[in-house]
Amino acid sequence: GSGRRTLVAGNWKMNLNHLEAIALVQKVAFDLKPAELEKVEVVFLPPFTDLRSVQTLVDGDKLAVGYGGQDLSPHGSGAYTGDISGTMLSRLGCSYVVVGHSERRTYHHEDDALVASKVLAAYKHGITPILCVGEHEDVRAAGNHVEHVLTQLEGSLAGVSAEQAATLVVAYEPVWAIGTGRTASAQDAQDMCSAVRGQLSKLFGDSVASGIRVLYGGSVKAANAAELFTMPDVDGGLVGGASLVAEEFVGIVRASP
Ligand code: PEP
Repeated sequence: GSGRRTLVAGNWKMNLNHLEAIALVQKVAFDLKPAELEKVEVVFLPPFTDLRSVQTLVDGDKLAVGYGGQDLSPHGSGAYTGDISGTMLSRLGCSYVVVGHSERRTYHHEDDALVASKVLAAYKHGITPILCVGEHEDVRAAGNHVEHVLTQLEGSLAGVSAEQAATLVVAYEPVWAIGTGRTASAQDAQDMCSAVRGQLSKLFGDSVASGIRVLYGGSVKAANAAELFTMPDVDGGLVGGASLVAEEFVGIVRASP
């Protein structure tokens, strides 16, 4: 809404083999018309092991799509076995990186302080963080979801300047909606995305906050994307399962108002 360019990002998680990865990017990028790719920003978030091939494809065919990683290390380099740095991602041409996804918060015990250090590492390397926040079902049932998400947001942005925040992307992803087929209602998504923007205004000022894209994530598909993306504070989607099927992902991109 409000002049912000819709962003549709496909989080592949730990899926697809190498050939499927290439085929998916090709199919999506070739199906979408230049005008559609101008209107909506389309971003792929493959596993690290596919990034080089995606880079070669995007550069070689001058595809008007972006790509990025699903996580990064807070450190620049060194003895961190298994980790991937911002330098490595930026050398692969990544413009985005997911930070603080609920699966990492859960399975890798990432807390807000660690997530904030990753947000800062992304900025240091010129990569735009897609910062994920969202409540578990019990928190919503107790009516504490707004407070919970805003606290998570503030903690995950500790040390970030208004200048840095100008390029930030936030994804509101209620954990109970991720991979479950249960989508938040468009009104619930709008209410939270609006609350997120209000908190961003407090942290960084109205003008910065009004330029930040706030996405919804959680069982977005072609059939429900239009309803979500027409809400005034929902600026697109972070899409998991449905981003693995070209027709479905293209349908989500085309659902943008
Ligand atoms: C996600 O993991 O970011 C996500 C939104 O997954 P899904 O679309 O499968 O719910």
